[in-house]
Amino acid sequence: MLTRYGVRTAVGHNAAMPAISWAVPDPRVLALRIRLRAVRMVAPQGFGYLGQALSSCGSLGQGLSAALGFALADRFRGSDARIFTMVSDGELEEGQVWEAALFAAHHRLDRLVVLLDANNSQVDGPVDSITTLEPIAAKWSAFGWHAVDVDGHDVAAVGSALAAAIAERERPSVLVCRTSTRHGLDCLPPDADGHFIKLPPSLAAAATAELTGKLEALRA
Ligand SMILES: [Mg+2]
Repeated sequence: MLTRYGVRTAVGHNAAMPAISWAVPDPRVLALRIRLRAVRMVAPQGFGYLGQALSSCGSLGQGLSAALGFALADRFRGSDARIFTMVSDGELEEGQVWEAALFAAHHRLDRLVVLLDANNSQVDGPVDSITTLEPIAAKWSAFGWHAVDVDGHDVAAVGSALAAAIAERERPSVLVCRTSTRHGLDCLPPDADGHFIKLPPSLAAAATAELTGKLEALRA
């Protein structure tokens, strides 16, 4: 029996990633889609036309609740599905996330894996200037989760952490992925707003040139 996977994004704008992956005609992505077989998404209504979204993500903070509901339903059905859910750090300011974390740990939803985008950025500014969340992994651990910190830009490290999470049989897992919205664009000033980066024309041209150069280097 093939393992089925679900991808749920609690953060609406992250829905673009799995949605776009569905539309990319790259054979490697196609192979991934075949392997996943059933990628089901929690996504904003705007992505519903893609036909892959089972439900809207709702307001910020509700996505994890939806994901664990799907995970619990899969258990009742005898399915071996795994559920991967993307959550943001700013979203942790919502109490519903912690209610969901308690519920998932109580029910030992070991098939549930959260990828937490810990970029210290939210719409209001740096997260740590709005609410102190640290130590994030320790909080999830205290709630009964398998929790690890990982460099979110290190694909191999994230892969290893995912493998450990998939092997976990007692607890739900959370990968606290440390990321930066400026990652990959060295031309951006260090104080560039991480949530909404509005580039003046000269900086936009520099960013385009930098990304084009990196893309060409990858293709070389
Ligand atoms: Mg954030």
